[in-house]
Amino acid sequence: MTEKLKITDTDVLLAVDPQNDFCPGGKLAVPRGDEVVPLLNRLAEKFAHVVLTQDWHPAGHMSFASSHPGKKPFETITVAYGPQVLWPDHCIQGTPGAEFHEDLDIPGAELIVRKGFRRAIDSYSAFFENDHRTPTGLAGYLRERGLRRVFLAGLALDFCVGWSAEDAHRHGFEVVVIEDASRAIDVDGSLAATRASLVRVATAVVGVNDVA
Ligand SMILES: [Zn+2]
Repeated sequence: MTEKLKITDTDVLLAVDPQNDFCPGGKLAVPRGDEVVPLLNRLAEKFAHVVLTQDWHPAGHMSFASSHPGKKPFETITVAYGPQVLWPDHCIQGTPGAEFHEDLDIPGAELIVRKGFRRAIDSYSAFFENDHRTPTGLAGYLRERGLRRVFLAGLALDFCVGWSAEDAHRHGFEVVVIEDASRAIDVDGSLAATRASLVRVATAVVGVNDVA
């Protein structure tokens, strides 16, 4: 990018899942996941509006391999709404792993969207659960507040960030992904698939320094 993107009052930063379990030492650590935290802090200072998302599962959630006898983490199974990757137990409601990283410093965040709290359905996207039909309410919130362009960054690029970007686009929001403030898990080609999808749904894929 040659020209910096100037942030306006109708822009919102969606900081996705900067939680302990997704950082090194956590239950579902994204490689170098903790590196996004200072970048999200820096980005947040540029935005008038910031929304955080928080993965928030009940114990025994269906996305956990431990809920499926004989299955191991990172295997894919088929459920009512299609393929579902099985994960280690993570981000269980009220546990330290579900808390935001202790260095996250975004006191001005206006909303925290919790997702994945229905036991029988996973939720990567901040807009819809994984059946692509059950809304989280975020689209309505953004519309009612007149926010039109969604900047996304966080964890993990190839799951919750990528799926949120697709759904933001589906809802008619303009989408900008800040790739260097995100980190990926990369299971079975998920990162390549996300990059291909971002070409379709994102107006721009930029770096932290491209945002003015
Ligand atoms: Zn989860």
